[in-house]
Amino acid sequence: MAKKQFTSTILHADRKGQPEHGVLHKPIHTSVAYGYEDARELVEVFQNKRQGYAYSRQNNPTIEALANKITLMEQGLTSVIFATGMAAISSTLLALLRSGDHIVSSAFLFGNTNSLFNTLNNLGIGITFVDATDVTNVEAAIKPNTKLVFVETIANPVTQIADLSAIGSLCEKQKLIYFVDNTMTSPCLFLPIKVKASLIINSLTKYIGGHGNALGGSVTDTGLYDWSSFDNIYDNYKNKESAQWGITQIRKKGLRDFGAALAPESAHHLSVGSDTLQMRINHACDNALAIAELCDRHPKVKKVSYPGLSTHPQHDRARELFKHFGAILSIELDDSLDCFDFLNALELVVSSSNLGDNRSLGIPVAHTIYFEMGPERRASMGIADSLVRISVGIEEKADLLADFNQALAI
Ligand SMILES: *Cc1c(COP(=O)(O)O)cnc(C)c1O
Repeated sequence: MAKKQFTSTILHADRKGQPEHGVLHKPIHTSVAYGYEDARELVEVFQNKRQGYAYSRQNNPTIEALANKITLMEQGLTSVIFATGMAAISSTLLALLRSGDHIVSSAFLFGNTNSLFNTLNNLGIGITFVDATDVTNVEAAIKPNTKLVFVETIANPVTQIADLSAIGSLCEKQKLIYFVDNTMTSPCLFLPIKVKASLIINSLTKYIGGHGNALGGSVTDTGLYDWSSFDNIYDNYKNKESAQWGITQIRKKGLRDFGAALAPESAHHLSVGSDTLQMRINHACDNALAIAELCDRHPKVKKVSYPGLSTHPQHDRARELFKHFGAILSIELDDSLDCFDFLNALELVVSSSNLGDNRSLGIPVAHTIYFEMGPERRASMGIADSLVRISVGIEEKADLLADFNQALAI
């Protein structure tokens, strides 16, 4: 039968795994451990010679069903699920890198990822931050000990878009791991495998869950990277075909040893949320474009950053790569309008630090999520003091537009 599209595929993913009693949702399996009649079977599970579960920190049927859904969404090979998006990023990097290695990263980053990279730097892993909207900056930063290039698809909060295709080709040529954070686009708007990503992270907390009541993160191996050319794989994990080496090391050294396992209850929430991802994100992107256009024309707004505006520096790239322009926009207000008064005047936009929620959320970023970074780094990232980031939700468009109109008029 023909390959199904996004929603048709994921809605039936659990059922295709033949779950118990023909249930349509994979049940929440809360058992921490799994027992075997024959002790030899337990040994085979431990040695990866038989499919099965031993202890839930490493795998669990509910978690595995969610991992399978993410793999289908990303059209990848295998995924590993973590307690949060940050756990997915930190555990993966710590599992794969060693002291003396070097990373090239986009300078336009989620604040906590930036903070994590500074910690890695203190552990002996070199980091060079570059303007990744142009591949030549990435290429110039590569050193003999560079192992990995890290980028986000649409960057927080000013919405820069990395030179995703060209960086993919560069990484392929130089045998570097290409690690793409797809959180802001989700696999619904963009498939990093199409630009030759090796590993993809998603914060499931955001669009994939959508309801904002469960944290979670995932790492997907696309199958494109040749792990036999990577120096840091431990001999223990080289016993299967080399396509599995990287993800096995991430599961063992990353998930098992660092221990940031997702609770099965959360996996269930995230899985149910993901059923409607496409409908929600399409609607949110449509709302975001309308709000960006309204703000762009408004005299109280100095600048709007949104990839859907033709004035955005990477507008053409976004048009070429993404199905829609995303649901995040940043607004720099005119000096006559205080950003706190503006946020307080919005009725449908909650002052909150999350993004990708069904509800519209807004935050004054320089004073909150980018505060710890300091004024210099903020300036280099294009973050003005009056900058407000809006994560646009799925409320009705007319209500949102009316709300922005009245809040800008105060
Ligand atoms: C939120 C976010 C993360 C971290 O995810 P958590 O689930 O909150 O840990 C990583 N990258 C991006 C781009 C994010 O927006």
